Amino acid sequence: MLRSTLLKLSNSKSFAHWVTSNGTTRRMSHRFVAGETLDEAIEASRACNDAGMAVTLDCLGENVSTPADAQKVRDSYLAIYDRIAREKLNANVSCKLTQLGLDISPEFCEGLVLSITERAAAYDSFLRIDMESSIYTQRTVDLVKRVRAQTPCVGTVIQSYLYRSENDIHDLLAYGCRIRLCKGAYKESEEVAFARKADVDANFVKLTRILLSSGFYHGIATHDPRMIAVAIRFAAEKKISRDDFEFQMLYGVRTDLQRQLVRDGYRVRIYVPYGQEWFPYFMRRLAERPANLGFFIRNFFRS
Ligand SMILES: Cc1cc2nc3c(=O)[nH]c(=O)nc-3n(C[C@H](O)[C@H](O)[C@H](O)COP(=O)(O)OP(=O)(O)OC[C@H]3O[C@@H](n4cnc5c(N)ncnc54)[C@H](O)[C@@H]3O)c2cc1C
Repeated sequence: MLRSTLLKLSNSKSFAHWVTSNGTTRRMSHRFVAGETLDEAIEASRACNDAGMAVTLDCLGENVSTPADAQKVRDSYLAIYDRIAREKLNANVSCKLTQLGLDISPEFCEGLVLSITERAAAYDSFLRIDMESSIYTQRTVDLVKRVRAQTPCVGTVIQSYLYRSENDIHDLLAYGCRIRLCKGAYKESEEVAFARKADVDANFVKLTRILLSSGFYHGIATHDPRMIAVAIRFAAEKKISRDDFEFQMLYGVRTDLQRQLVRDGYRVRIYVPYGQEWFPYFMRRLAERPANLGFFIRNFFRS
């Protein structure tokens, strides 16, 4: 109920305005967001690298409505690759297709994605296309397959809460696509997604096994110790090397577990988001864990 309300609020423009123009809430967003500028994100990325973890940088934003805005976003992604290379960071990039004009036209969006993957290829880097709500899943899978047919430096994300995900994985693996597996962060109906957490988790386990057995390098993105334990056990049983997959976690979430995995010799990549458009991302993080909302409210009234 609370999760559903928070996810609904994440689409509210008036609530977004109130939250993002308030100094206290802006400060509190730093719990999950590296900052509003690329400089701040670079600093956070360097700290992750120094702690033995790779990074994927995300310039926050979604659902742009004009081609000019989408092109601006594309330009900022090109600049991120240049900066990563200049700073010699162990980092790649994640982006959302609705930031790059998917709502305007898939062809237009694909052109922008290709120009970003070209820059990624020039630096021997990688572009991860995040997965958004289920109304975009088919268009995202189709676009990623078309781009993957042209370049190996693109991959995407699959959400274990969707019934369709196993089929999507097989479809994408046929193109040699690298996949990040996560549980899924959007408000979805029972027509398309498992409603019970136990079913989402069971599907996560099943999909983890498919991915780890596939022979491609994938990311297992979760903070759930049970899911992590399953992946570790399965990899050990099947003699899959620790260098053949990575765990991925969000900036500011379970840093204890992030560091433990590094100490245990696993590859870990941290998703480092930054930018002024942090409101929907921040709301999804609050929705994932009711205790975060308590923390937020307590700090708000204390300040
Ligand atoms: C690297 C990465 C990339 C992602 N990309 C996408 C994407 O492209 N599309 C998409 O829909 N979703 C994405 N997600 C979000 C994901 O779908 C889940 O919503 C999120 O990871 C929470 O699920 P969980 O697997 O951690 O398990 P849960 O069962 O939700 O949580 C397990 C435990 O993790 C901790 N935890 C989880 N979330 C939080 C939090 N916000 N704050 C504090 N503690 C927390 C708690 O201890 C909790 O008990 C991504 C997640 C990661 C880690």
